[in-house]
Amino acid sequence: MTAILSGNRKASMLARSLWEFFNFELYCSIHDDDGQPNRHRIEGILDPSSIGDVRIVISLRRSARQEEGLVHELLHANLIPLGYPTFWIDEEQGSEKWQLAGGITNNAEHVVMLPIYLSLGCPKHRFLGASRPPTDQERRVIADLVEMSPNLSTPDGYLTHVSAYLQRQNVTFRALHLADAIVKKKI
Ligand SMILES: [Zn+2]
Repeated sequence: MTAILSGNRKASMLARSLWEFFNFELYCSIHDDDGQPNRHRIEGILDPSSIGDVRIVISLRRSARQEEGLVHELLHANLIPLGYPTFWIDEEQGSEKWQLAGGITNNAEHVVMLPIYLSLGCPKHRFLGASRPPTDQERRVIADLVEMSPNLSTPDGYLTHVSAYLQRQNVTFRALHLADAIVKKKI
């Protein structure tokens, strides 16, 4: 991780602060570029009422966008110490509603992440990797979230507005405050 970010001091500092915040449970594996997107997983949540040791696991594809790809995934994780809620989606994994909810929360996070990404000196056109064209529904979700972006700039506003949006789509979910759980364990 350090080597990938060596050309960007601010991003290196972000990685170090996350490393410490997550009690060194921040992992990154690098894979050959097989066309799959980069990912981050939050592990350690057994169920919404039982939060264990939270770990962040990033898998990265080797590509020309490797540095920005890593910054992008770190910024997803960074929403936790910033106090943003993590939405636990209580729908059947792989179902249409589960995928819709995943698209909503992922794109809502992107709205919050983009200004921070730009403040780290990363180029806007590399914020997202190449992916398949969005479906009409995905396009609608992204447009709705961009429209509500002024309301997403604080953790409370984000909680209120993303929760309301998920409710309107009849998604069953719980909002988890992982920062509180992590900080409590440090004391
Ligand atoms: Zn993302």
